[in-house]
Amino acid sequence: SFSAEAVPQAPEDPLFGLMAAYRADTFDKKVDLGIGAYRDNNAKPWVLPVVKKADAILRDDPTLNHEYLPITGLQPFTSAAAKLILGASSPALSEKRTCSIQTISGTGAVHLGALFIKKFYPGSPTVYFSNPTWANHNQIFSNVQIPISTYPYFSKETKGLDFAGMKKAIAEAPNHSVILLHACAHNPTGVDPTQAQWKQLAVLMKQKSHFPFFDCAYQGFASGDLAKDAWAVHYFVEQGFELCIAQSFAKNFGLYGERAGCFHFVTGPGSDSQETIRRIASQLAVLQRSEISNPPAYGARIASTVLNDESLFKEWEANLRTMSGRIIDMRKALRSKLEEMGTPGTWNHITDQIGMFSFTGLSEKQVLELREVAHVYMTKNGRISMAGLNTGNVDYFAKAVDKVVR
Ligand code: PLP
Repeated sequence: SFSAEAVPQAPEDPLFGLMAAYRADTFDKKVDLGIGAYRDNNAKPWVLPVVKKADAILRDDPTLNHEYLPITGLQPFTSAAAKLILGASSPALSEKRTCSIQTISGTGAVHLGALFIKKFYPGSPTVYFSNPTWANHNQIFSNVQIPISTYPYFSKETKGLDFAGMKKAIAEAPNHSVILLHACAHNPTGVDPTQAQWKQLAVLMKQKSHFPFFDCAYQGFASGDLAKDAWAVHYFVEQGFELCIAQSFAKNFGLYGERAGCFHFVTGPGSDSQETIRRIASQLAVLQRSEISNPPAYGARIASTVLNDESLFKEWEANLRTMSGRIIDMRKALRSKLEEMGTPGTWNHITDQIGMFSFTGLSEKQVLELREVAHVYMTKNGRISMAGLNTGNVDYFAKAVDKVVR
């Protein structure tokens, strides 16, 4: 029988525990490099100016109410989201072999995809993640009882991509495995394959009949260019893959708490692809109904207002460039300060890596020392959120790193 007392204590989520420790620290120069949320140069959350505009437009709309959205979400949002990730001229869109369903941000999209795979993917495949990956991938797929494994990704020596290791593991995985790929701005390493490497991965995955599962949480954040950041997805679709995509608007719209996201399924080209996609869409709707009934409206309305208006869209692109540009400036500043001080080791990876995060190569011991001595908060794996750095603290951080590395 069920014994409530026998439920064991679960470990605290390491990232949210770190945030709590940061908040409790009273030191005036404390630095938060933990969570992956954008901060402005004053270390404050940034409401994108274009989001403020969209918000004002929505507030002025007398027709808006708080009714349920449809099970599959706000249609103008999901179709604009599909165009954004697939590209407006995608053959998959013109051939109507995609379906898109609004989710509880990126997490909900990954979860819905995992559920769908569990229920409909024949032969209970293993899903392969990069090592390391966003920690929640492990939990989400384990929770729906999909076997998980990893492929090498990060080279400790070069602090870049272990491409040979990655290819070897993908080649050795059983045919028809699910390969989870970060579309851009890999979390936690900030290391992405080059376009030439993506092409090789596509060839290999075709040979193996693997199923690509793209997780796209940072479109526009890697390069500041939306199309460029979706290049890998575009390429795989062009190559005729059947695939799925989990898309988050948390970071690129700064809509973290509003949970705006989308799950897309793309079938391969073929005469029955439209029929197939209709059946897939119907099953996704059934899963959605049992999980959340209908997705939340507000964030999707904001994003939809921007995505479907040419001039607001342009403004959004400029806002994205502000965020990605500030992060790139901080990468340059950190690297040059470390190099100026002659801090032992090489630091080119700080500017070679892209997106929200950098994998510094600092050891767990050094990370803990930084917390203890300098009140700098970062995850134990040596990841820093670049958005936590600004012109007011980058010097302080570089000096602290210099001290623990020597
Ligand atoms: N996938 C990756 C790789 C992420 O880094 C994140 C956020 O940190 C997500 C998905 C999902 O985030 P959210 O659920 O806030 O959209």
